Amino acid sequence: MYQVNTNYLKLPGSYLFSTIAKKVAAFQEKNPDKEIIRLGIGDVTQPLPKVVIDALHKAVDEQADAKTFKGYSPDLGYQFLRDAIAKHDFKDRGCDIASDEIFVSDGAKSDSGNIQELFSEDNVIAVTDPVYPVYVDSNVMAGRCGNYDPNTGMWDRVVYMPSTAENGFVPELPEKTPDIIYLCLPNNPTGTTLKKAELQKWVDYANQKGSIIIFDAAYEHYISSPDVPHSIYECEGAKNCCIEIRSFSKTAGFTGLRLGYTVVPKSLKSGDASLHDMWARRHGTKFNGAPYIVQRAGEAIFSEEGQKEIDELVGYYMENARIIREGLSSAGFTCFGGKDAPYIWMKTPDNMSSWEFFDYLLEKINVVGTPGSGFGPSGEGYFRLTAFGTHENTKKAIERFKTL
Ligand SMILES: *Cc1c(COP(=O)(O)O)cnc(C)c1O
Repeated sequence: MYQVNTNYLKLPGSYLFSTIAKKVAAFQEKNPDKEIIRLGIGDVTQPLPKVVIDALHKAVDEQADAKTFKGYSPDLGYQFLRDAIAKHDFKDRGCDIASDEIFVSDGAKSDSGNIQELFSEDNVIAVTDPVYPVYVDSNVMAGRCGNYDPNTGMWDRVVYMPSTAENGFVPELPEKTPDIIYLCLPNNPTGTTLKKAELQKWVDYANQKGSIIIFDAAYEHYISSPDVPHSIYECEGAKNCCIEIRSFSKTAGFTGLRLGYTVVPKSLKSGDASLHDMWARRHGTKFNGAPYIVQRAGEAIFSEEGQKEIDELVGYYMENARIIREGLSSAGFTCFGGKDAPYIWMKTPDNMSSWEFFDYLLEKINVVGTPGSGFGPSGEGYFRLTAFGTHENTKKAIERFKTL
């Protein structure tokens, strides 16, 4: 009889968003005429920028002609896209990242889940708490988290770095030194950002301790504050201790198209082992490249017109963030985030638990959000709303909140 990977059996419950989807579907089935507004899952609602649509059409048409038809993509990404990324996302910001340090993929979720394969099972990971669930769960699947304590909601080998209103959602540097530190900035779910000097402390800590930082910058494009770095490579020494993961999903509406990338600098080494070479080897073995037409679409956002269009797109969502933040605050709720990130992190009222508040909102005003406790134990008593709805639905949802 075959044996399964029993690490999977240690994972508590189902993936957070599957649980929410099931609850919402059950409610809708019982209440078919209620109009549910979804401000829960971080999926975009606005159509793709015109430059992207044009690039897609052009690339599709090329596939009808044997001279321009493309088969498998290069597994690390087309040079035209890697060059565009290196120039616009890094060189133009003063970061010394070369195009061959950029590994194009089908998105940040798979990269952030897969990157742990490069590290031995003995490594100790540290995560901010609350946290994007993929980091912990993918390490659990690899047997890197120890045992789960259902009472605390924690894994005994994971270093949790609490981020709460008390510390302004900026965790302390951990006392127990972790090997791998996951940082997501701007943060999902709390909407927090770090200024450059604050982020530099993390880079210095990692270099001193011999740790590595896996930096998820999926929301980089939502930063408007001038002193908030867009890339961790804006910090000195980051090329020796940081991997950065990016996505076109939230920047340009590619959640359905699928495109992202991971930066693994050549200077990133553990002894003689080059993480850059290892990640290239993994891509070569397990990935057959992001689609040509999607990479052309990704390239298009770096044109002048493309940048203008994605700035408008991000501006649209950030207007929702403002509507939510100001609307909820004036209705007496306490909320955070929503300034450099499309997430509003609110305190549940009357000491309700996160799931109690979820059920309450679904029942009373038919609005779906995400329970904070689903992102980690320190998320208990908080609730996440996203700015990815339409203006119309966002305004309607806030009107409904005011009736509570
Ligand atoms: C949405 C999100 C991603 C997923 O990005 P994809 O490229 O769509 O896979 C990655 N990280 C964080 C923190 C996210 O919120």
